[in-house]
Amino acid sequence: MAAARRFVILGGGTAGWMAAALIAHRCRELAVSVTLVESPEIGIIGVGEGSTPQLKVFFDELGIAEREWMPACHATYKTGIRFAGWSDAPGFESYFHPFQSALDGHTAPAFYFHTRARRTGRDVVAHPDRFFLAARLAEARLGPVPGENFPFDLGYGYHFDATLVGQFLAAHATEKLGVHHVPRRVSGTRRDAAGGIAALVLEGGEEIAGDFFIDASGFRASLIGEALGEPFESFAGNLFNNAAVALPGARDAGATSCETVSTALSSGWAWRIPLTDRTGNGYVYSTDFLSPDVAETELRRHLGLLDADIPARHLSMRVGQVRRSWVGNCLAIGLAQGFIEPLEATALHIVHATLSGWLEALLADGFGPSHRDQFNAAIHARYEGIRDYIVCHYRMNRRDGEYWRANAANDHLSDNLKSLMTCWFRGGELDEEVARLGIDRYYAPLSWHCLFAGYGQFPDAARLRPPEADLPLADMAKIDRFIAGCALNFPAHDDLLARLEEA
Ligand SMILES: Cc1cc2nc3c(=O)[nH]c(=O)nc-3n(C[C@H](O)[C@H](O)[C@H](O)COP(=O)(O)OP(=O)(O)OC[C@H]3O[C@@H](n4cnc5c(N)ncnc54)[C@H](O)[C@@H]3O)c2cc1C
Repeated sequence: MAAARRFVILGGGTAGWMAAALIAHRCRELAVSVTLVESPEIGIIGVGEGSTPQLKVFFDELGIAEREWMPACHATYKTGIRFAGWSDAPGFESYFHPFQSALDGHTAPAFYFHTRARRTGRDVVAHPDRFFLAARLAEARLGPVPGENFPFDLGYGYHFDATLVGQFLAAHATEKLGVHHVPRRVSGTRRDAAGGIAALVLEGGEEIAGDFFIDASGFRASLIGEALGEPFESFAGNLFNNAAVALPGARDAGATSCETVSTALSSGWAWRIPLTDRTGNGYVYSTDFLSPDVAETELRRHLGLLDADIPARHLSMRVGQVRRSWVGNCLAIGLAQGFIEPLEATALHIVHATLSGWLEALLADGFGPSHRDQFNAAIHARYEGIRDYIVCHYRMNRRDGEYWRANAANDHLSDNLKSLMTCWFRGGELDEEVARLGIDRYYAPLSWHCLFAGYGQFPDAARLRPPEADLPLADMAKIDRFIAGCALNFPAHDDLLARLEEA
């Protein structure tokens, strides 16, 4: 048998434990050891309560059923994100960005046709909420797992307590997958002759030697940045937010919601995330426009918690990405690798995509580096692809105020984003443009359509004319009936959550 490969992970936040579990699982038939070192005194960031559907792919691969992890992490289902107050266009004060599903194939073509007709001056229905089942489920607080007699899967993500997910994964990785846990502080590294990392040096001088090192040390980036000196590319030029304040609240009364709500405030946006035991709240903002104290007061006022005795947590955010994620024998993941602010809750999605791609590349070459450059290029492009989508939210806003005007005027845009905007405003086929640019693997045409249309980026109502009689518009009554009929197959979100507890 070949010599054992030793994987050593620095960091026990969600990213570190996801790495530990996935490496141990994927390499279960190979001779490997996995060790995770973390400092309980330093602790974890402890925010990050929303996911994309990629988290389901992660748990499914590990064979962990929803009934095992969701109740333990106070998790709820998520069908998408509602953006409220980002636009003052009449009728477009809020819109829902749905996770996609096979059923959208029945309504998306009509949505695309209608948005194009409206862009080119026709007064037709073009609000995304009218076209997608996921928006209806969120509105009616229905859970996204249908009854057995409805053979269509819906894409969905989750809301969860980030600290509890970390603890759940830690228990799974150590008890079921044989990961070694070392709760100690790391003070440095010992390097090998080739400039790679030979060992982590613990406070007191002990060493943990390894063959591959994962930097999951959070914003510190202790290995990839401090030890290996890989440059960090900041996104501050077009993503202004660099701070957040979090303030947990009581659980909302009534039926449990299955949407994240992102509400525009004076200099950023507030998240509202429903868990089974509480509501996660916070305000992501730019310190160039707002001081932390004023941000906290604005958030408290927004939540009706001005006088509440709940302590707020203030956080700084390092927004950008390391130039290369895989350097020598080190892979950076999580906040050590990069962060594109949490507007679309993509951080854990990228953690999983990075780990998955890296393991594939590593194992395809028998633990060798021959796919390293290709892997690094793909991950770098993924960050840029997601960044474009987030930047577009700010660039397309239609709100007043210094912060929002600065965002709308910001012309630090990628060529891809410029092409998409040109296509939209000139009445082109946006789905074809997304495909032509090869960026549909980051955000699909449906998401781009929802974003532009959701903010009401159409000619002003006064300039719209009635559609021509022969324009092949969709029958909106039929679409309403289709969505309402599909929705009948989905249980109340609370019933779905209760079933998990009983299972
Ligand atoms: C405001 C905000 C909102 C967010 N919302 C979302 C969201 O909705 N969805 C989403 O997917 N993500 C979100 N994120 C990102 C998410 O929080 C992180 O991606 C996730 O928690 C993973 O963090 P991490 O494990 O990389 O880092 P951390 O949680 O910071 O963990 C770092 C680990 O490294 C250890 N460590 C560091 N230095 C040393 C040392 N010298 N010795 C030993 N141990 C050390 C620490 O003890 C800790 O265990 C959000 C982030 C912020 C800031």
